[in-house]
Amino acid sequence: MTLAGVAATLLVVAALVIAFGASRSGAAAAGEGSAVFGEAHQSSLTVALPPPSTDKIYGALQARGRPIVVIDAGHGGRDPGARSVSGEVVEKDLTLALAHELRDKLVERGRVRVAMTRDDDRYLTLDDRAAVARRLDAAMFVSIHIDSAVNPLARGASVYSLSDVASDAEAAQLAARENGALASIGTGGSVQAMLSDLAMRSQMSASADLASRLVNKSAGRFELRPQPHKFAAFYVLKSAQTPAVLFEAGYISNVDDEQLLRDPAHRSAIVLALAQAIEADVAAHARH
Ligand SMILES: [Zn+2]
Repeated sequence: MTLAGVAATLLVVAALVIAFGASRSGAAAAGEGSAVFGEAHQSSLTVALPPPSTDKIYGALQARGRPIVVIDAGHGGRDPGARSVSGEVVEKDLTLALAHELRDKLVERGRVRVAMTRDDDRYLTLDDRAAVARRLDAAMFVSIHIDSAVNPLARGASVYSLSDVASDAEAAQLAARENGALASIGTGGSVQAMLSDLAMRSQMSASADLASRLVNKSAGRFELRPQPHKFAAFYVLKSAQTPAVLFEAGYISNVDDEQLLRDPAHRSAIVLALAQAIEADVAAHARH
């Protein structure tokens, strides 16, 4: 290369550095020639960043490109959730066991991909949980909890879908309890107020469809509450911005339910029903 060639190369490099700096600072008040140049650089600057490590996506090879289902193991870390009637287990451990087993079942069946809001014992805010679904543009969000009641005879699973009006006083109380963490993140306004727009209406109706499928697939396989599909204004479901349900796998305050929920064989019946309902819902939406 000649000396002139080297000088020309240096000039081009200098121009590149300037254009890069200009487009980075956003002060690209340059002439027409360098505007085109700047654009070429813009495209290389808008490369998507890899998602945070928490957004790990699980899936079989044949599930590549398939919809993503976010599984949310309720509670975690310094928030143990409800304590079992025996005092030997807490809700956060059983929700995590169910979430792991549901993830593995869905991955094994290969029809969807899966992400988890947590896959270990850690504390997350409701916003942290919902944000995973939004970041991944998830097809649905399934939050797993275990119920607890003062009445030691209350037992069976139930499914809650998002609504601006609670189906009964108990559903309203549960939503108020689960929304309790909101005080610590300083969110103003009620969930009801945020549920007014049209997008939310369609999210609510899709969530109700998903909840019905969960109930239908569960019926006859394990104990359900007498009216298993309930509605309430759950902040975490609303914020997921995708069809979202909260599944209560049983009552940790009931001796029989505690024993069943601690039994991997019983949990696998629950997990299979959940997996089949999730897949049926994804398939139904794919046809539209
Ligand atoms: Zn819970």
